[in-house]
Amino acid sequence: MKYVTWSCPHCGKKFDTTIGGERRYGCPIITCKKCGGQFLSTNIIEPALMVENATKPSRIAFGDILCVIIGGIMLYRGFVNYALGSTGLSIFLFIAGGLLFALGVWAFIERIVKYPKLLQAWQDELEASRERLRDVGYIKTLVRLGYRMPSKYSVIPPVDGKKN
Ligand SMILES: [Zn+2]
Repeated sequence: MKYVTWSCPHCGKKFDTTIGGERRYGCPIITCKKCGGQFLSTNIIEPALMVENATKPSRIAFGDILCVIIGGIMLYRGFVNYALGSTGLSIFLFIAGGLLFALGVWAFIERIVKYPKLLQAWQDELEASRERLRDVGYIKTLVRLGYRMPSKYSVIPPVDGKKN
């Protein structure tokens, strides 16, 4: 688990959090535990604000396919080199290529097996996101904190009739 330290832009209080640098989906608003001030997380994305299906997990990962192709080419080169009598290079190509190929196939199958769960988690997160966005107050908070909003959210009537 990666730890990052961030400081509240309002009071300067420093916090450690286990949320790493990787992007994830959820509510991007962070409330400071010390002063109660609100600010945006840089790595949490509100998925319902993204282009439709842009956040949908893909069934096939490009990296897995690349592993299989490169591993396959290395194995093939290993056979060619073996046929030509270059045993040392062949052994390296067999081991490295074989490993890469096997890892690629493993990751490819693993992703297909795990995909229904991935898809379900994404759908749940998207639904939770849509639920949050039904609250005009929540949208106003996002706008006030400077979250990049799609144009359809840029004209939000004031809830209380006053300007912010
Ligand atoms: Zn604070």
